[in-house]
Amino acid sequence: MSAPLAIGSRKHSRLFSKHVLHKYRHLVRHLSKSSQEHEYDLVVIGGGSGGLACSKEAAQLGKKVAVLDYVNPSPRGTKWGLGGTCVNVGCIPKKLMHQASLLGNLIRDGKSYGWDVPDSINNDWEKMCGAVQSYIKSLNWGHRVQLKDKNVEYLNALGSFADQHTIRAIDSKGQERLLSTKHAVIAVGGRPILPTEIPGVSDHAISSDDIFWMKKPPGKTLVVGGSYIALESAGFLSGLGFDTTVMVRSICLRMFDQQMANLVTDHMENNGTRFLKECKPLRVVKNAEGKLDVSYQDRNGNEEKEAFDTVLMAVGRYSVTGKLNLPDIGVSMDDVGKVIGGHEGDQERSSVSHIYAIGDVLHARPELTPVAIKAGKLLAHRLFDGAQVQMNYDQVPTTVFTPLEYGVVGLSEETALATHGESNIEVYHAFYVPLEYVIPGRDASQCYIKVICQKGDDGRVLGIHLTGPNAGEIIQGFSVAMGCGVTWRQLSSSIGIHPTMAEELVKLHITKSSGLDPKVTGC
Ligand code: FAD
Ligand code: NDP
Repeated sequence: MSAPLAIGSRKHSRLFSKHVLHKYRHLVRHLSKSSQEHEYDLVVIGGGSGGLACSKEAAQLGKKVAVLDYVNPSPRGTKWGLGGTCVNVGCIPKKLMHQASLLGNLIRDGKSYGWDVPDSINNDWEKMCGAVQSYIKSLNWGHRVQLKDKNVEYLNALGSFADQHTIRAIDSKGQERLLSTKHAVIAVGGRPILPTEIPGVSDHAISSDDIFWMKKPPGKTLVVGGSYIALESAGFLSGLGFDTTVMVRSICLRMFDQQMANLVTDHMENNGTRFLKECKPLRVVKNAEGKLDVSYQDRNGNEEKEAFDTVLMAVGRYSVTGKLNLPDIGVSMDDVGKVIGGHEGDQERSSVSHIYAIGDVLHARPELTPVAIKAGKLLAHRLFDGAQVQMNYDQVPTTVFTPLEYGVVGLSEETALATHGESNIEVYHAFYVPLEYVIPGRDASQCYIKVICQKGDDGRVLGIHLTGPNAGEIIQGFSVAMGCGVTWRQLSSSIGIHPTMAEELVKLHITKSSGLDPKVTGC
């Protein structure tokens, strides 16, 4: 054991000042930088939904702004342009492929309405993908033009923090540039998880980063996962005519009302999507015919094996904060790498007061495009326009774009009961038949509406749930009413638009507690 250092000795004071310097290095850097002029008012890392919205808004307020966007190719080599997840590998291609799959059914329905439709219709994958991809490329270009028009400097470069006020930008040729900035926004989003603990997955499986850009049709597909991405992807693949199986380890749509979740999956099962419930993939091996043999554990613990052409992992996403040097500059993150906001009373402010996070990368906030956009715009106004308005993360509406869409705003029945107690809740509900379904004789067993309210005519509406065609379009309007604090009396005294599906929502009159049959008959 070495002898203790004498306090005041030269060696002690040298070690002490080294320790102090190390401990307070962030502060020292911050003080030295903040007293300087910065080249930019704002640098945004990440040019997706949130980053583009924030940077354009700030530039329109007359500020000097740069946005960095860089896409690392997926493990399968897929890459894309400016605009982030939503535009390239998310909402947009997903909704277009959902539409392509719905069209197949509408074309078939056409027969009953007198259209001369051949018995067998087929989708051409390459043609559909070509159309979707050229639209995406037009959006990539549109984003570039908008940034230029709005005086936002765009750098196609990978960003990280060199220090609290300096962003290091490295382009695809390895050229480095340092940008000194007064404020910084982290808007790097996430990427799909490909679990390395399942042998063969990282070599053979694809993710949502690849499916929309596949050059060949996916063929017989296994989708692993039970949430939005898994069900939406399985839904459009089935609708396009591919043999599709969903492997779910627990329950589907965990974050949602489970009665509604079951209606969504029942509808998928009734329309040809196969579900392997309570099953887990064990390994993926490429066989001699080039197919993927998936070994999995079934609900009884037995090992089974089946061959697929494509394995699509949809088992969640991780935040791409790993290489931003956030711990070095003092930005706190949660245990999955999301930035913790809410510092100094600002929802998007990180533990370093001039560094903010928006969109998917922000801890415990919904991962949705309109959320990222709204948060980015509001932040720009707080930073540069003297505004005080904070983002409202409550009652965010959303839609799961499965073949039977599920739109929702507000609480699930489970959460409403747990929060308000059974005696304080009334649930109005109805099974209805969309008029469009009648002539082709489509099965409407899963078309359902549920409104959860506080008891009493003036009780607030707590949650609105709807499965049916165009559920997203319907819920958007009702979410405005929810935002205004609509009561059951106001909702039920509204006049419907006939004949629509939305009118069924204002016509609800049967409560769950009455036990009466909630089937809507006639007008
Ligand atoms: P992103 O849009 O992910 O943008 C982040 C950008 O930063 C990316 O371009 C990334 O490459 C870039 N980047 C990362 N690291 C760096 C770095 N170090 N330097 C420079 N650039 C970097 N939401 C909906 O509202 N509706 C939907 O229907 C919907 N469907 C979806 C379907 C799928 C398959 C997926 C995957 C997502 C879907 N989402 C949907 C979610 C939506 O896409 C995201 O919530 C949204 O894109 C988040 O925006 P963001 O700005 O936080 O991040
Ligand atoms: P989620 O994190 O919501 O769900 C992950 C799913 O994968 C769960 O069902 C989970 O099961 C399962 N899972 C996780 N790990 C494994 C594993 N090792 N093996 C098998 N299953 C596993 O992720 P998503 O990727 O679906 O969606 C991410 C976000 O993107 C969503 O929360 C949403 O905000 C956004 N999004 C929005 C859309 C829209 O607006 N329409 C569409 C698509 C995405 P378990 O429940 O057991 O954990």
